[in-house]
Amino acid sequence: MIEGRRIEVRGTVQGVGFRPWVYRLARRAGLQGRVRNHTRGVTIEAFGVPNSLAEFLRQLEVDAPPTADIVELRTCSIPVEPVTDFVIANSDRAGGRSVTIPPDQGTCDKCLAEVLDRGNRRFGYPFTNCTDCGPRFTIATDVPYDRDATTMSGFELCSACASEFDDPTDRRFHAQPNACPDCGPRVALWSRDGTPVPTEDAIREAAEYLKGGAIVAIKGLGGFHLACDARDRRAVRLLRQKKGRDQKPFAIMVAGIDAVGALAEADPTEVDLLRSPERPIVLLRRRRDAFVAPEVAPGTDRLGVFLPYTPLHHLLLARAAVPLVMTSGNAADEPICIDNDEAVDRLGSIADWFLVHDRPIAARCDDSVARVIGKQATIIRRSRGHVPRAVALPVAVERPVLAVGAHLKNTFCIAVGNEAYFGPHIGDLDSPEAMDFLAEAVQHLERLLGVRPDVVAHDLHSGYASTRYALSRAGVRTVGVQHHHAHVVSAMTEHGLVGPVLGVAYDGTGYGTDGTAWGAEIMLCHPSRFRRLATFRPFKLPGGNVAMREVWRCALGLLHDAYAGAPPIADLSLFGRVPSRAIRVASDMLDKNLNAPRARGVGRYFDAVGGLVLDRPNAGFEAQVAVAFEALADPTETGCYPYDLMRVCAPAEIDLRRMVRALVEDLRRRVDPRKIAARFHNTIVRATVSALYQVGEAAGNPPVVLTGGAFQNTWLAEGVSGSLRGHWDCFRHGLVPPGDGGLALGQVVIADAVLKGETESCA
Ligand code: ZN
Ligand code: ZN
Ligand code: FE
Repeated sequence: MIEGRRIEVRGTVQGVGFRPWVYRLARRAGLQGRVRNHTRGVTIEAFGVPNSLAEFLRQLEVDAPPTADIVELRTCSIPVEPVTDFVIANSDRAGGRSVTIPPDQGTCDKCLAEVLDRGNRRFGYPFTNCTDCGPRFTIATDVPYDRDATTMSGFELCSACASEFDDPTDRRFHAQPNACPDCGPRVALWSRDGTPVPTEDAIREAAEYLKGGAIVAIKGLGGFHLACDARDRRAVRLLRQKKGRDQKPFAIMVAGIDAVGALAEADPTEVDLLRSPERPIVLLRRRRDAFVAPEVAPGTDRLGVFLPYTPLHHLLLARAAVPLVMTSGNAADEPICIDNDEAVDRLGSIADWFLVHDRPIAARCDDSVARVIGKQATIIRRSRGHVPRAVALPVAVERPVLAVGAHLKNTFCIAVGNEAYFGPHIGDLDSPEAMDFLAEAVQHLERLLGVRPDVVAHDLHSGYASTRYALSRAGVRTVGVQHHHAHVVSAMTEHGLVGPVLGVAYDGTGYGTDGTAWGAEIMLCHPSRFRRLATFRPFKLPGGNVAMREVWRCALGLLHDAYAGAPPIADLSLFGRVPSRAIRVASDMLDKNLNAPRARGVGRYFDAVGGLVLDRPNAGFEAQVAVAFEALADPTETGCYPYDLMRVCAPAEIDLRRMVRALVEDLRRRVDPRKIAARFHNTIVRATVSALYQVGEAAGNPPVVLTGGAFQNTWLAEGVSGSLRGHWDCFRHGLVPPGDGGLALGQVVIADAVLKGETESCA
């Protein structure tokens, strides 16, 4: 007795070899019918005897291809149709959408072996890919994910590639970007003004130039990189100068995992991260004897390292045989370039040569950055390799919501139904170009999702460019969301928690509901509301925002508070490095309360104390001092400074004035700075844990989540979660960045919850 079933599959099921795999399963089970892509996923209609159908269904559930990610399988009975074969049917473009395009995947081992095999027709071909690997999101122009909705549509498959594409037993069966030297994209070498340079082998020649000290702009998957020999001090310095990038570290690409060991230490978790198909930049501990120009990552013990993720990168690295600086192809503050002519225009004054190709990039997408924090892999910047993979929401949103994130390290997020989709990393919103990128990326993701959300969530800070963008969208309902509330809800959402939770949100700064800068918050949170239970005692920053760069101002403000207006400046070497006039002016601001806003961000405490102990009056970029301070801390030191927890006020206040005075005493007595750094870290951890115990009881001890940029600090993250382990559930970020790059997820969930609350109270 023949029966019919329709199976709806949702999740990441397009561009991952899903249909071919279904096809093979169905054939093996002796079923008839069809499988097709559509805008919401994949639909299978299968006809056969009940036993075969049941076995087929079972295999669907347990045995999907490694890169597929099935979110939902729904089955229903349908009338039997007189078909005689199982086929892959044409895609169906109608209907509501949910993004089924997978993220870009690093080159798989099989493809790499072909590229390196002299006898293979793809020997040396930089665009080799298959259903397991290759470009996806960055070439997709529309859904469903079919070749004619990608930037490969202009390349006609040759007969050899077409037969692979059509052969269900081939690993390139329906690999949409399938290509070979005869029919696919090609590389070219251009001079700095965009003139093609005649050459037999553009990649080899680019590698030669790199070895000779040149800066080469290289078109990759999600945009251009600017590359140079990472060992060449002159080249690296020149790149910094031309790019207008002072001290921020550059990432380094090396040929393979063996080459990583020469530069940095990588434990097994870090090796897995490096080799994962997302191929992020991984922040590793740099080896002391690493042969890399000091200008690559000045003043830090870390090195951002990543492995080649396209055949082009593999070939380039193999030929250059040196580690390469690979930094985003942009001028300071601008988005990464994707277009060949745009690159010549904007990067012509930086790069000596351009290694370009003729496969257009549909979506800008920077490299992702990840780090192991206390044994746990954590995404710091979620972009290429992750976008547009969805984060599952524990509660579906009522209507689509767009959240526009923060001002710095911006990413946005669109939630539809049970899923939240982060857009690519946009970066700091300080230029009109960055704002254009934000608008363009929002529009692209809206098209792929087939929605235009009429609810837009934004930060409460009216000075954020993202907030202004949200408020400029016509005809939408906007919802302002408190910064740290959003951090906490982002963390709880990642772990499927619906609240309440005790959120520990530690970062540099975020706009508070009282109009002051918050940044060290312990709050009881639900998606729709929060209560602030504890925070740090604020101190004044003379000169306001200038103190972010001139961290000696943070130190002065902190001391001014701890010593009741009479800081012992003369005893502290830090202030010997600052012009005395500047100190006088700043002290005056503190005394007279002029241009000295209060701050309480944990980041400002790190800046202040880090500056004092490291003798560093200035930071070259955000968190530079904090990162160096963490690196300084002696892991064997268990000492701690005194602190007070003031519970008379609401919220309770962690008062660190006694710590500051004890720490200054240590500095005077010339205690090893590594011990002082460790004691400071220990104090923040202990104060946090005791505050949690103090306020947790009354709140019913709900699970704790740790969030905010300060939890990129291993000592803090491991310290707090380690102290709670075994007593209290404690969650940290993994797939969603703890810093402002993860903020938008909290914003969508909060906006949805707030609107639902309104509807309920009306009913
Ligand atoms: Zn492959
Ligand atoms: Zn071909
Ligand atoms: Fe933040």
